[in-house]
Order: sequence, then C-alpha cells, then structure tokens
Amino acid sequence: MPEEMTGKVGRYYLSWGSGNPPYPIHRARNVLLIEFLTNQGCRVGWGLPSRPSAARAGVTNYGKNCFAFVEGIGSFVSVVSLVIDKELEYDTPALDVNCPEECTLCIDSCPTGALYEPLRMNPHLCIAYNAYATPGSIAIEGPEVLPLELRESMGTWVYGCDVCQQVCPRNQAKLKAELPPNAFLEYMADDFQLEKILNMTDEQFSKVSNLLMMNYISDKRYFRRNAAVSLGNQGSQEAVPALTEAMQDPDELIRGRAAWALGRIGGSQAKRALESNLSRETSEYVIGEIKTALAMS
Ligand code: SF4
Ligand code: SF4
Repeated sequence: MPEEMTGKVGRYYLSWGSGNPPYPIHRARNVLLIEFLTNQGCRVGWGLPSRPSAARAGVTNYGKNCFAFVEGIGSFVSVVSLVIDKELEYDTPALDVNCPEECTLCIDSCPTGALYEPLRMNPHLCIAYNAYATPGSIAIEGPEVLPLELRESMGTWVYGCDVCQQVCPRNQAKLKAELPPNAFLEYMADDFQLEKILNMTDEQFSKVSNLLMMNYISDKRYFRRNAAVSLGNQGSQEAVPALTEAMQDPDELIRGRAAWALGRIGGSQAKRALESNLSRETSEYVIGEIKTALAMS
C-alpha cells in the first residue's frame, strides 16, 4: 500500500477489483458467477447479510473483531452472497470464533472503544461508520457533523478504518508479505494526500470513486470534511495555510471542520486565522466551531 494511502483509507475500499474498468476483477467474478448460475437454470438475487451467510456456508469463520476470516488468508477478503431458487447440498457451517482464547488485541486497540467485547461493536462509535455514513449516502445514512467526542480518536482515517484488522495476528502473514509495488495504487496515490482531499475537485472525486474505490459517499464534501479532521489530527503546522484557505469555503461544513482542525493543530498562525474568521463569520454553526477551536488552541 503506498504511503499516501496508509492509515487513511481502509484496504478493502482500495481493492482495485471493486472499481469500474480497466480493473474490474471483483466485479467480473460476480458477473461470471451469476452468468454460470443463470445458465444452470437458477434465478439469482441479492440481499443476504454476507458475513453470516459465508459462515453458515463454511467458507469463513469469525474473529472477535466481528470480521469474516478465511483460514490461512485472514480478514482482508471480500465476501459476496447470492440468493438462488435451487436447493444445493449443504456445507458444514463454521460459526465458531477461531481466535486464540487469550487474544484481545483488536478490542484493546480500537481507538474509539466501538469494539467493546468479542463479537460486540457499537457502529455509532466506529470510525468507519462515522467516516462514510453520511446524509444521502449510497448505503447507510449518518450524521452531517462528526461527533465532537470522536474527532480526535478518528486519527487520520478519511474513509474506513483498519485498526482492528491491522493488529490481528491472523492477518500478519498477509500484511507482512513482501509484494511488488502495485502500479495502479501508486498511480492513484497522489490523490490521497490529505490536502488534496481537503480541496477535492469533481474530477478527483470521480476518479477516486469510479476508478478505484467502493464508495458509499455520494457527495465529495464529506471526503473534504473528513480530510480536515485528519489534517487536524496529523498535527502538522504545514497544513495551517490549506486549512486557513478552507475557512473561506462557501460550504459551512468545510469551514467548521477546518476551524476544528486549526484548533487541534494550535500555534500562533492557526490562532490568528481563527480569530480573524470569527469576526466575519455569519453561520452560527461555524461560530460555535471557531469558539471551540480557540478554546483548544
Ligand atoms: S473499524 Fe476501527 S473504530 Fe471500528 S471497531 Fe474496528 S478499530 Fe474500532
Ligand atoms: S486481534 Fe486477536 S481476538 Fe481480535 S480478531 Fe484477531 S486474533 Fe481474534
């Protein structure tokens, strides 16, 4: 995974097989399987929850972090379930949790406490949910404004979160495998610099979400919002000019998040930017964010 992408976007969403041509590996598999089943006389549909289905089919088992694991491969897998109108021979279900009994690394490492006991996760605290469950989302609706109490814990994640999979011993063989650089990801990497996401253009949004990513966010403003929080958590003074510029954005959501990030980074330059914007800001929401930010800086 190129450096620009690491710790910002969940690996699953960068599995370039999910995108449109020229790299439709994952999509092609679905299409071929559906064609095969249809040719066998099956009607094919969607709608089953994938992880329980895969476990009942004996293809995967569970980890305490709630992910589906394939033995010998780990949890960085993509599970797809189809419904057909034919009865097949049943496989032996694999509903067990195949983790070492004493291991709690995923629970201990979850930055927000979303994962609070084996197989129990509160999605409303999960970074992944809060990053991509947005108003108008293609898959799952969520809040416009990221909860204040979660922002620091979100770290630099812009879309998804891999922490509870990254620490997992069952994934280490794959994560540590020496692989040649992925030319396509390297080609896309430049678009994942946080300042570029903060100033994301329609062209970049279209490139990222059509060419590469399985994307639930329907409006680029939420990528921009998340990037502002990530820049704040990265804490570099180098981000202050870009965030100061974002405080002039016509979208109050971006201005508010940029204010929070400036407060989080702190320092005299960030403070000056906040104070000068406070005097001319008209949005009550942004004024509140600036005051919170000034109290932090
Ligand atoms: S994805 Fe991240 S925030 Fe969500 S449960 Fe796992 S470690 Fe916690
Ligand atoms: S970190 Fe440990 S407990 Fe969590 S899923 Fe991996 S092996 Fe299981």
